[in-house]
Amino acid sequence: MPFLIAVSSTVKRVLPLIRMMHPVAYTLIEWYHSNKRDLPWRNTRDPYLIWLSEIILQQTRVEQGRPYYERFKEAFPSVASLAKAKEEKVLKLWQGLGYYSRARNLHKAARMVLEKHQGIFPTDHAAIRELPGIGDYTAAAIASFAYDLRYPVVDGNVYRFLSRLFGIDTPIDSTAGKKEFLQVATELIQHAPPHEFNQAIMEFGALTCVPSNPNCDSCVFRSSCIARKKNTIQELPVKAKKQTSRNRYFHYIVLHDGKDVYLKQRTEKDIWMNLWEFPMLEEKKALGPEGMLRKTSLLFKNHSTTMHDKPSKARHLLSHQTLHAVFYEFTLQKKIKLPATWKKVNRKNLQKFPVPKLIEKYLRQLLVGD
Ligand code: SF4
Repeated sequence: MPFLIAVSSTVKRVLPLIRMMHPVAYTLIEWYHSNKRDLPWRNTRDPYLIWLSEIILQQTRVEQGRPYYERFKEAFPSVASLAKAKEEKVLKLWQGLGYYSRARNLHKAARMVLEKHQGIFPTDHAAIRELPGIGDYTAAAIASFAYDLRYPVVDGNVYRFLSRLFGIDTPIDSTAGKKEFLQVATELIQHAPPHEFNQAIMEFGALTCVPSNPNCDSCVFRSSCIARKKNTIQELPVKAKKQTSRNRYFHYIVLHDGKDVYLKQRTEKDIWMNLWEFPMLEEKKALGPEGMLRKTSLLFKNHSTTMHDKPSKARHLLSHQTLHAVFYEFTLQKKIKLPATWKKVNRKNLQKFPVPKLIEKYLRQLLVGD
């Protein structure tokens, strides 16, 4: 892979070190063979299954992702079967994992493989990278794990380990940082089988060089690690931008009509697009019961509903947002004209709809005792 980029003085210092010093790649692979976890997606070279596992594992812990991987593999054993499935079925199976754009892109990419590549998963890096939802990291993972192509993976685990081992303090979320870390990883992978090297470096970051309290005392790099020598472990890797989180206030209307309640499909182009939820009012701040009655009075005119006491509250954290949700229950007393987008659903059938995690948790509570 050619690199015609300007590099910082840190990396100029580090590159000769990589070539001369400790045989990092081999030490990693040796460590990997004695310490790796037995994970189902590691026992296959099938690019479809590797892709599936990589998408599921983005922003998801291994233990949480494992049952989803098994379920997807069983429901859609081939890329063609995934491509032919209805989006609603894919979203339902994904429910609970969050970041639904991953599921939508998975489905879109499967269709692309079927239409553009005759159902055969592409074998070259550029064609893999073109598929929806596949970025540099995922393309490198599929290319190396399935076909042993020499593309280094650079994920959060790799940034952390390399920044500490070589004492690199270029921010990992800057363009310069991304290029530098990619260059370092590319140097290292030259000396090793790509598939094993990539698995090993990620596993090392996940198990040993962990974010807080890394296992330095038993680390195979403890004598060469620059961050350990300089006592900068907790400062690395460096991030330039502080992540800010915004508060959002969701007020759900859980409208009971006998054994039925009303749902609405989310059409906004956001992470919950096409999922189902209760009709909802989003406000700049929390309304409180009186505010909610005022807001819904136009909709439920002529006292056609009664509002229950004690609304249920929930808080849900996303990477850049904190959702403050309140579920207000109402009972419909008289027939009224409701918005056409509201769908009347028997409570028994609520579980069949793909819903965001916040709604899933509330439904569990609502359906207890039904
Ligand atoms: S010595 Fe500690 S900080 Fe350095 S590579 Fe090993 S685990 Fe990471």
